[in-house]
Amino acid sequence: MSDQLSQYNNIWIDGEIVPSYDAKISIMSHALHYASSVFEGIRAYDSHVFKLNQHLNRLEASAQLLGFTVPYTKDILKQAIYSLMEAQQHKEAYIRIIVWCGIDKITVSHSNIDVHAAIAIWERAPNYQEKHFTEGIRLCIADWKRPAPDTAPTQSKAAGLYMISSLSKVQAEKSGYDDALMLDYRGYIAEASSSNIFLVIDNALYTPIPDCFLNGITRLTVIELAHKLGIPIAEAHLSIDALDRAQEVFLTGTAIEILPVGRIEGAQGKWSFKPGLITHTICNAFADITRNNGNLLSS
Ligand code: PMP
Repeated sequence: MSDQLSQYNNIWIDGEIVPSYDAKISIMSHALHYASSVFEGIRAYDSHVFKLNQHLNRLEASAQLLGFTVPYTKDILKQAIYSLMEAQQHKEAYIRIIVWCGIDKITVSHSNIDVHAAIAIWERAPNYQEKHFTEGIRLCIADWKRPAPDTAPTQSKAAGLYMISSLSKVQAEKSGYDDALMLDYRGYIAEASSSNIFLVIDNALYTPIPDCFLNGITRLTVIELAHKLGIPIAEAHLSIDALDRAQEVFLTGTAIEILPVGRIEGAQGKWSFKPGLITHTICNAFADITRNNGNLLSS
């Protein structure tokens, strides 16, 4: 446990930078009991934080959807991130911001409760190995479904929604897969446990309409890249049969960036894919704008 903690070095918590061991919260925090917290996962490449404004805007929107407010301005949070990165001498880093409800009361209601924020930055080990990027990962189809937008605040990056992601990912790992493909409450293809999905069908990209799951910032970046590169792209409700017509499939997310899918298996069928020209083109364009100072997009 102590080794795990030490990788975070220092934590910014409510305006102070403290050693990770001293960043403590109460067991009676509302967030711990009722999942009243929202968070962001952000990446820094060569000392530049990628899409920082978009992430901080989403953090504010996520909190608002849960009925509370981020207690610090975007400028304060930006300053905190860059101070931590400098203090820890990180050039390439994963940044986690969490905003949560505190201890004013331990009833289900969190109205007028104290709200807190913390930031941890570390050099996150890659989730996947080289072979996963060349051959693609293996997905099973999750039993859990993405809920309807009137069942849960599905546009919020709220910790509570990750219960379904965690259950699906654990189910996948236990069955020997890398991740799970999640369908939505209507049976349409939604996303993976913590990333969005794209299909390549006859040289065009298709991605599900994010009307009941997170509209990822990497997803939006890929859509913008496709437009700039002249690759046809459509957002659509995709039934599982769309996999029959797909030649390539890949996932997108801050942590995994662009990750090809090689196989999808479930009670509904089995499909194989090979990362091809479009996946490679998008991968290279994404690497360009993050790592090689490419100027395809504004960041
Ligand atoms: N869906 C879920 C459930 C996620 O957790 C993530 C990761 N934040 C994504 C999609 C992809 O979002 P982004 O590209 O903004 O990281």
